[in-house]
Amino acid sequence: MGVLFLQWCDERFNFQATFLQCLAKHVPNIYSAEMDPLLEKQEEMVQAAILYPLECYLFGEDPDIFLEKLQQSGTSQLCGKVFKGGETTYSCRDCAVDPTCVLCMDCFQNSIHKNHRYKMHSSTGGGFCDCGDTEAWKAGPLCTKHEPGASGSAKENSECQLNEEIMEHSRRVFPSVIKYMVDMLIWEEEKELPPELTIREKVDSYYCVLFNDEHHSYDHVIYSLQRALGCELGEAQLHTTAIDKEGRRAVKAGHYASCQEAKEEIKRHSENVSQRPLHVEVLHADVMAHQKFALRLGSWLNKLMSYSSDFRQIFCQICLKEEAGSEKPCFISKLMLWDAKLHKGARKVLHELIFSSFFMEMEYKKLFAVEFVKYYKALQKEYISDDHDRVLSVTALSVQMFTVPTLARHLIEEQNVITIITETLLEVLPEYLDKNDKFNFQGYSQDKLNRVYAVIYDLRYVLVSKPTLWTDRLRERFLEGFVSFLRILTCMQGMEEIKRQIGQHIEVDPDWEAAIAIQMQLKNILLMFQEWCACDEELLLRAYRECHKAVMRCSTNGRSREKTVFHLCGHTLESRPYRVSADPVSIHLPLSRTLAGLHVRLSKTGTISRLHEFVSPEEFKVELLVEYPLRCLVLVAQVAAEMWRRNGLSLISQVFYYQDVKCREEMYDKDIIMLQIGASLMDPNQFLLLILQRYELADAFKKIKPTKDQDLIKQCNVLIEEMLQILIYVVGERYVPGVSNVTKEDVVMREIIHLLCIEPMAHSAITKSLPENENNETGLENVIDKVATFKKPGVSGHGVYELKDECLKEFNMFFYHYTKTQHSKAEHTQKKRRKQENRDEGKNLKRMTCEM
Ligand SMILES: [Zn+2]
Ligand SMILES: [Zn+2]
Ligand SMILES: [Zn+2]
Repeated sequence: MGVLFLQWCDERFNFQATFLQCLAKHVPNIYSAEMDPLLEKQEEMVQAAILYPLECYLFGEDPDIFLEKLQQSGTSQLCGKVFKGGETTYSCRDCAVDPTCVLCMDCFQNSIHKNHRYKMHSSTGGGFCDCGDTEAWKAGPLCTKHEPGASGSAKENSECQLNEEIMEHSRRVFPSVIKYMVDMLIWEEEKELPPELTIREKVDSYYCVLFNDEHHSYDHVIYSLQRALGCELGEAQLHTTAIDKEGRRAVKAGHYASCQEAKEEIKRHSENVSQRPLHVEVLHADVMAHQKFALRLGSWLNKLMSYSSDFRQIFCQICLKEEAGSEKPCFISKLMLWDAKLHKGARKVLHELIFSSFFMEMEYKKLFAVEFVKYYKALQKEYISDDHDRVLSVTALSVQMFTVPTLARHLIEEQNVITIITETLLEVLPEYLDKNDKFNFQGYSQDKLNRVYAVIYDLRYVLVSKPTLWTDRLRERFLEGFVSFLRILTCMQGMEEIKRQIGQHIEVDPDWEAAIAIQMQLKNILLMFQEWCACDEELLLRAYRECHKAVMRCSTNGRSREKTVFHLCGHTLESRPYRVSADPVSIHLPLSRTLAGLHVRLSKTGTISRLHEFVSPEEFKVELLVEYPLRCLVLVAQVAAEMWRRNGLSLISQVFYYQDVKCREEMYDKDIIMLQIGASLMDPNQFLLLILQRYELADAFKKIKPTKDQDLIKQCNVLIEEMLQILIYVVGERYVPGVSNVTKEDVVMREIIHLLCIEPMAHSAITKSLPENENNETGLENVIDKVATFKKPGVSGHGVYELKDECLKEFNMFFYHYTKTQHSKAEHTQKKRRKQENRDEGKNLKRMTCEM
């Protein structure tokens, strides 16, 4: 050891060559007993033979003394603590920029946020503490421990910088260390090492190595091992536990032939009709040893990174350096691209290293993000076909970059990240497209679709903070992304059409969950896109034009039927015949609904007066815009009239979600808005005729075909009731910013008032009935005290909110978010209350009921 240290100190020597010679000599010896390693002994030898001399050279003095000094001089302002699975994290609901900004327990306890409204979470692992990140917090970005000037870090800037000699050594040491680590981690040869590491005669010593996957159960692996190797239960269990923890393990050592035989046996015993065989490789002992040591070097670097910003910066520079004139990815991109091929243990080391280096230095985090987006499509595709959980994928790092507002803006402007994400979706979703280029998720795989959701989530992350400053470039790139996103919506518009079943009940309920789940995933993304579009007049108009074009393209498809004329009370309507009860209908209309959303935003800002400059009056066919949302509402009415009984539960569930709080903002609510747009722009008589016709009530209103069939009469009555209700909504439901002059707060207040008109409710019950925004907030806290008083719990039970008396006048019996049950409950409660009031005041009961 001493000799080597002296050698390394000699100025003339070639570090790279010496370093590799040293590794070639020691690594295979240190890691020779892979089947039954003495871990402490191994670590001692690694320290003595390699790491200690390496550190001596790097620091120019005794490593322990040097690191002690460095430690005292303080470190980063960022906490950056990486969370383990299950660890508690804290987010401040008052100050966090979005819900992904979290603190570790230590930082939280030492921050101002402990006195704010906060949420606690259990980490899934892989995230890190955002203490010190000024972009993550509206206030109090630093805890007292990480504040500059806090104990120990006062002299930070002066002393923690490394001297030029150490920097020079780092620049010489890191490239060799990193190159070796990368080369060995992505090494694919099972039998050979790179020539510079092959110094001795190759011996016939191999391992049969078993890899972890998420498909085979624990018991299945144990069983396969017992059968294949003839080993005891205990040994098989030991192997399996280690594989699950580390990601891979040598289960047999020996000559090549015998390892090869064991490999085939394990594969044979782990394979069955529904499962692929386990992943097994036969590796030469020296290959295995060097790969192990590469990971050890990874954690060595990881530790070193925590000592100094200079180390981090030099490390990042080397990782990002591209070979001159080469198209090859830089070191860090190579590792990223290899991520899905690495075993679990290696991925963990790699991700921790990224956290401790790139993510601790803002400038390098940005450069890393650029590389990440450059290979985004490839990485996501790898992840989608990978069999490991998301926390173990490098793609899970997206949240750390995309939710940083300045970084997101940079990535949109310079890397076109919105378009890249939507294109990725378009490239991975085609397997779900039918012959009409619409999605159809029948027989989908839940696991695979869950992986696609991760991409959708990235879109949400990028859009979560609306820019305050728009450049021309940002505007262009955003619009490009929006148009690309419209292509996804086009594949959804009219997807999974259904047709009313007559006679026989359907045999199998079709899958509906996937389509609704995607709708739920997209809800806030759709809202955010609309909000972004509304940031500036020009943008909104251009986005409207694009969306209008897309709606029209979908609406003019397959319109072969000739128009017919419909007369009633001296009015006529020309339209193409269509019947919800007989023709195909779909409840998925995200394009129409996005257009409705953009339309109210045009109204809100008054920009609507310029609409004709972007969409000519001839192009703007309002009847066509209304058509599809109207069909959807008619479907709901017909389901209520039990006309679709034979279509089974699948349809009932879809209709439920259509109006449920999880989806309604971008489904039901927008359809009502579209009808309001139609009512305001169409001739009123034409509008009413269209409604009558689509509700298939024309004959009923003409009073022809009097039927004696009680069922049909009942059915007709329900339809009339449903139709009248929709007309009441179209005229009366104006509590939408843009439809009338109300704020978002007013809307939340009105929702709460109507909930409390049913009965007094607990906090949690109200929260559950309000839609959540992109930050998972309902806005309840801001307004609840204006409309309700909290009644403390009695001996048992929980406290409830009671509506304030002065809010009772806001009660609208025909509130459009009431379900049928809620409607009758609210009506009942309010009638009872008025009766009570009348009795109290001794007034005439009859008069009051009449007023209602
Ligand atoms: Zn922390
Ligand atoms: Zn902190
Ligand atoms: Zn706070």
